[in-house]
Amino acid sequence: GAQKRASGDPYFSHPLEVAAILTEFRLDDATIAAAMLHDTIEDTPVTREELDRVFGTEIGGLVDSLTKLNKLDFASKHAVQAENFRKLLLAIADDARVLLIKLADRLHNMRTLHFVPPAKRARIAQDTLEIYAPLAGRMGMQGLRSELEDLAFRYLMPDAHALIMSRLEELKAKNGALIARIADELKDQFARRGIKCDVRGRQKQAYSIWRKMERNQISFEQLSDIYGFRILVDKVEDCYEAVGVAHTTWPSVMGRFKDYISTPKQNDYRSIHTTVVGPGTQRVELQIRTYDMHEIAEYGIAAHALYKDGRSALDTGESGAYRNLRQIIEAL
Ligand code: MN
Repeated sequence: GAQKRASGDPYFSHPLEVAAILTEFRLDDATIAAAMLHDTIEDTPVTREELDRVFGTEIGGLVDSLTKLNKLDFASKHAVQAENFRKLLLAIADDARVLLIKLADRLHNMRTLHFVPPAKRARIAQDTLEIYAPLAGRMGMQGLRSELEDLAFRYLMPDAHALIMSRLEELKAKNGALIARIADELKDQFARRGIKCDVRGRQKQAYSIWRKMERNQISFEQLSDIYGFRILVDKVEDCYEAVGVAHTTWPSVMGRFKDYISTPKQNDYRSIHTTVVGPGTQRVELQIRTYDMHEIAEYGIAAHALYKDGRSALDTGESGAYRNLRQIIEAL
C-alpha cells in the first residue's frame, strides 16, 4: 500500500533489501521468502493462518517467530540487556534462520538509521552494539558484525569515529605506496615457491581501532598493526607453507603467531595469524587461510545453512558455530 519508510521510500523497499542481504549469504528459498514477509503479521492485517495457506507452514512459521522476537524486543525496552540477549538466544533454539533474518533486518535498519529521528537513533545503535553485533560474532559472521559495529559506533560516538577515519585517511595517503609494495612482495615470494594465492589488503575497522585504544590506553600513533593482509590459498598444506615463506622472508613478531587451523575458535573460525616486520619496518598482520575457511569466517552459520536434499544443514549439527550457540542457550 501507501506505507512509507522514515526515508520516504515506499515501504516494500525494506523487505526487499533485507531479502537481498540474505541472498548474499546464499540462504535457502524459505529464508528469503520469510525475509520478504517479515513485517506482514506485525504491520498488516495478514494472519499466520493466511501465510501458512499461501506460502506453506515453513515460511509462515519463520515469519511468526520473527514477529514474536520483535514483540519481545519491544517489551524488554526497560529490561536488563543481558536478559534481552538471553531471550534472543532462546528464541532461536528452534531455528537459527529466524535470527539470521533478524540480523539482516537490523543491518538494513542501521544502514538507513540517518532517516530515523535523532532521539531514537541512540537506543537503536546501543542495542546494535550490545546485542546484535556480538550475536553476529558468536554466529561466526564477522563481516556482518564489523558493519554493525562501525555503523553503531558512528552514531554513538560521532567525534571519535570522525577522528579515527581522518587519521586512517592520513595514514593511507602516507603509507599507500608502502602497502602496495608489501602486497607485491608477498605475492612475489609466494609465486616463487609455487604457492597459488590471493593477497588482499585489509584495513582495521574504526570501531576495533577505537576499542583497542581504549583498552590499552594508547594513542592512534601507538597502534602498531593497522594494516593487515589476508592470504587465501587452495589447500590447508599451503597455509603452513605460506607461514614458512613469510617467516623466512621477514622477522616475525614474538607472541603474535596463532594457529586457529589446528585449534579452531568455538564459532568455527579457522585461520593462521602472524605479524611480521615487513619492508620499511612496518608491522603487518597476516591472516592465512583457505578459500573454504574464508567462507566460514565471513558467513559463519549462514555458510552451513544451505539446504542439502531439502533439509537444512542447520539441523544436522555439523556446524560448530551452531553447536556453540546451542551450548550457550542450554547453559542459561
Ligand atoms: Mn523490518
